[in-house]
Amino acid sequence: MDPVAFSVEHKHEQVVSYFDDETGLRAFIALHNTRRGPAVGGARLWHYDTPQAALLDVLRLSEGMTYKAALADLPLGGGKTVILADGKEQDAAVRAARFEVLGRYIEALGGRYITAEDVGTTTEDMTRVRRATRYVLGMPLEAGGGGDPSPMTAFGVLCGIKALAEDVLERETLAGVRVAIQGLGKVGMSLAEQLVGQGAVVIASDIRPQVAEEARNRLKIEVMEPEAIYDARCDIFAPCAMGAVMNDRTIPRLTCKIVAGSANNQLEAERHAEVLHERNIIYAVDYVINSGGLINVASELDGYDEERARLKTAQIYRTIKRMLEIARAEGISTHRATQRLALETLGSATTHH
Ligand code: NAD
Repeated sequence: MDPVAFSVEHKHEQVVSYFDDETGLRAFIALHNTRRGPAVGGARLWHYDTPQAALLDVLRLSEGMTYKAALADLPLGGGKTVILADGKEQDAAVRAARFEVLGRYIEALGGRYITAEDVGTTTEDMTRVRRATRYVLGMPLEAGGGGDPSPMTAFGVLCGIKALAEDVLERETLAGVRVAIQGLGKVGMSLAEQLVGQGAVVIASDIRPQVAEEARNRLKIEVMEPEAIYDARCDIFAPCAMGAVMNDRTIPRLTCKIVAGSANNQLEAERHAEVLHERNIIYAVDYVINSGGLINVASELDGYDEERARLKTAQIYRTIKRMLEIARAEGISTHRATQRLALETLGSATTHH
């Protein structure tokens, strides 16, 4: 797909290409939609085969952020930064200088775009960005930020799972509900703890054996080999590791009625949402159920307040119920229902800035 054609078709408001001769920073920033408020979205540092691939990625990701922010009912739009890795950023001094330059570029956008940590970038990088602009979120607690958003992301997934268990499994509580978690990292481990606290039966896997072992001993849960998790007998499959795990090889193996986890981009291709739908597996669209992290960082905009972020995150329960209602009423996949809901929300957006 040609990125220029893509940006026209998907109505991006602004796309900027940056190059800084002194530090060698090459980055793209895309603002997809700012109707609801400033565009928010992380800065991704990644090695791309071509600049076109990087540009297409920033366009896709920024659009995704528009829908994610709208469905989380935040007064924010969608944007994204992609930084092209060239290996030189492995030098600490070069890296620090580049992120400060990025901060200057973001500052020059005058608040229309707010960045945060993403794949390949760290809180440390964001403190460099912060030197040049205040339009950055996800600061450490000691710097007045919300700290690690993962526990909030996990809480949001739990809220979504409750809505799904009520609606799809007709279970009033999670007691005895079998959940298979793929990946016991920052989100997965927290989710496992919270589910165990609710009486759910958790089965989990991680490619790091010591992490799986820790979960087995501390949480008294069953752990499986990474590849076996797709066959685990369960009500809910919770992908909390990498993306593209819903595909033609894995979907036929699932025994669950629901897929609900934190991982970003769970579908290998969009059509896999329909494959799940045809198999009567309800898919809790990733960007709806994992928005607790975004809600947590966005809470920094009005001075971080954990309780407020938690209340807002709890609304994922209602959004998931609404998504299920639309999907059922119209006989469409949850993926389609979510797109419809997002467009409705955007259509009714009033300008907040
Ligand atoms: P993490 O790196 O802390 O955890 C990922 C875990 O998955 C690691 O323990 C890793 O060993 C494990 N893993 C990797 N491949 C695996 C495999 N094939 N099978 C089993 N385990 C595997 O990351 P995280 O912050 O917990 O995020 C997990 C997912 O949720 C990611 O896709 C991330 O993009 C997404 N997400 C995270 C947040 C957040 O607040 N951290 C917010 C939204 C979305």
